[in-house]
Amino acid sequence: MDGTRCYIGLGSNLDNPARQVATAIEALTQLPNTTVIRVSSLYRSPPMGPQDQPDYINAVAALDTRLSPESLLQQLLSIEQRHGRVRGSQRWTARPLDLDILVYGEIEIDTQALTIPHPGIAERNFVLYPLLEIAPGLVIPQLGSISSLIAGCEPGDLVKLHDEWRELKV
Ligand code: AMP
Repeated sequence: MDGTRCYIGLGSNLDNPARQVATAIEALTQLPNTTVIRVSSLYRSPPMGPQDQPDYINAVAALDTRLSPESLLQQLLSIEQRHGRVRGSQRWTARPLDLDILVYGEIEIDTQALTIPHPGIAERNFVLYPLLEIAPGLVIPQLGSISSLIAGCEPGDLVKLHDEWRELKV
């Protein structure tokens, strides 16, 4: 399977977050015209924004896909919905599952529906450290190498949890 190498960020802080992330990874493996190449460990991170919500479980997956960025987004939104995500108007509130297209090959997109590379990458340790784990040589359009981004982003309270998400029964 060829296609374009993409990186997907996964996050959850509700309803057994580690299982939400594990089943979402399983759902990624079922996407049409797509092969999951690598999955990072799970990480625990404090919430962004409002602090009166549980910690997050995060991971990053590398996949090769022939889906367009727009089709991939639709597939991710559908996986989120199947995980019980109800979209509210407020940002950064607790959610059973959040999936982001972090990087889609060399492509740069900035439309109302889609910004790629994802604008939060550079300051989010829960994205950069899992990316470093699975793609240490990655160079992100507009942003540069993972190693240079990591140099400007402290791990803070990020905790690496599992070497293998597959330990979790899905
Ligand atoms: P959020 O509720 O913060 O997860 O925002 C989800 C919405 O962000 C989606 O419906 C997309 O239209 C939009 N979006 C923009 N860029 C991206 C991206 N790179 N990955 C995923 N969603 C994105």
